[in-house]
Amino acid sequence: MPNRELLLIPGPTPVHDDIYKALAGETMAHTDARFVKIFKNSLEMTRQLFNNTDGEVFVVAGSGTLSMEIAIMNTVAPGEKLLVVSHGFFSDRFTTLAKAFGIQVDTIQAEWGQHVDAAEVERKCAEGHYKAVTVTHVDTSTGVVANLDELVPAVKKSGALFILDGVCASAAIEEDMQKEYGNAEYRLDVVLTGSQKAIGVPPGLAIVAFGPKALAAREARESVLGYYADIKNWIPIMQDPGKYYATPPVNMIYAFEKGLEMVINEGLDTRYRRHAALGKAVRAGLAVYGMKPLASEEVAAPTLSCILYPEGVNDAEFRSKLAAKGMIIAGSLASLAGKAFRIGHMGNVVEANFVKAIELVGETLHEMGKEADVQGAVNEFKRVYEGNL
Ligand SMILES: *Cc1c(COP(=O)(O)O)cnc(C)c1O
Repeated sequence: MPNRELLLIPGPTPVHDDIYKALAGETMAHTDARFVKIFKNSLEMTRQLFNNTDGEVFVVAGSGTLSMEIAIMNTVAPGEKLLVVSHGFFSDRFTTLAKAFGIQVDTIQAEWGQHVDAAEVERKCAEGHYKAVTVTHVDTSTGVVANLDELVPAVKKSGALFILDGVCASAAIEEDMQKEYGNAEYRLDVVLTGSQKAIGVPPGLAIVAFGPKALAAREARESVLGYYADIKNWIPIMQDPGKYYATPPVNMIYAFEKGLEMVINEGLDTRYRRHAALGKAVRAGLAVYGMKPLASEEVAAPTLSCILYPEGVNDAEFRSKLAAKGMIIAGSLASLAGKAFRIGHMGNVVEANFVKAIELVGETLHEMGKEADVQGAVNEFKRVYEGNL
């Protein structure tokens, strides 16, 4: 497959050779009819990814953080109120971001590794007069997945906009903007993401889908505190990519088109199932080594796991030994630093990658003088993966 290295951090994820080939295509004029066709096709597939048939999608040069900024800045005005539903570090980024725009922010914080109770969100929304609520689909610091079936109605009852950060989820977990969560009015209003996580394309694109209510929120305002990030400037381009506003990242769009083609060809439901099975299986395999996930299985994410070290395993030593074998994982953040590692299982990764990963983890534990049943862990991984497909 893809990368020479087993790049199993929470993004960027391994890039498939076909995507590299697309990326390396000759750079055309951004107004060239051939490029315009590629851009249009990419936007059409982005719509399909979110089933966003009655809103608008925006694909611009930037990272996931820019897509967060686009989502907030265009929907919530300075002085208005935003509620941040936080499952960890990346959720909290909305708080600092929104404050930079003079937005009033309230937060509901889950203990790391757990999720926020929907009833609490509903209570808070009923009193708070929030313009919007942000939910991080998978918080990349904790490996916790948000329960949209409960959270969407809890928020939408209040009339607030529902903004979903899908940076660590899009193309791996359903994000369907036409889905009605118990009522025709209860739908996702904004889904935002980046190219480099579960979509499996190199970093470089901010991707945001606005539903009709979110578009109306921007429409209702005279101006916003931004220029590049003002969706009003991008709407004409997204409707006709032959027009110019700011130069699109031509080669990244080639790569993105290929990446989305791979997603659509695999089939969204198949891809969601593959990720759910991979997540469960990776956690089950590592558990054989005495490595326990921070999040319980009910809230653990299909895309990424935060795994607590067993007694006496040094984080820096463990990860550098693995890196020397070509397997890259991430440390943990804040109070979990040194106590847990994070392993991504998203994008264009396959079963064989994780058989290898589990073997390498076992070998590394042996080198560190720990017991590890490598064959047992691999067998458990395969059993759970194949049983959940
Ligand atoms: C990675 C990530 C971000 C930040 O994206 P960048 O591309 O690093 O700017 C935001 N939210 C979540 C959930 C993420 O996983």
